[in-house]
Amino acid sequence: MSREKKAVRSAFRDAVLRRDGHRCRVCGREARTSNLEPRTSNESIDLAAHHITNRELVPHGGYVRENGIALCSQCHEQAEAGEAGFEPAALYALIGSSAEIAAAEARAKGPRGEAIESATLGWVWGAEKTS
Ligand SMILES: [Zn+2]
Repeated sequence: MSREKKAVRSAFRDAVLRRDGHRCRVCGREARTSNLEPRTSNESIDLAAHHITNRELVPHGGYVRENGIALCSQCHEQAEAGEAGFEPAALYALIGSSAEIAAAEARAKGPRGEAIESATLGWVWGAEKTS
């Protein structure tokens, strides 16, 4: 995987987990401390930044927080399986987004998603936005 692709994924994950307070947005389970540190330990990572609408269906892969939600591994499995209560509409409602908002943000932010490149600082993660 290219450095840029990694940076885009990492920025997406960071923006989503930060917005959701490092807790599963469905059941409220908290991330382990190791989840907040660089991934150096072998502990399992509890929280995933789940793509609510499948990557292939959102412009530029949908690496924007409006298409992401923090889920623990159990809730993530249920979301991936499309179980009741974990449908995209239900998950979007939890974060105050929608498929339309996610697509519009993905289009506006472009291929870098939440990653913003700075010539002097390198990659800057999840710049704050107040819209
Ligand atoms: Zn959960």
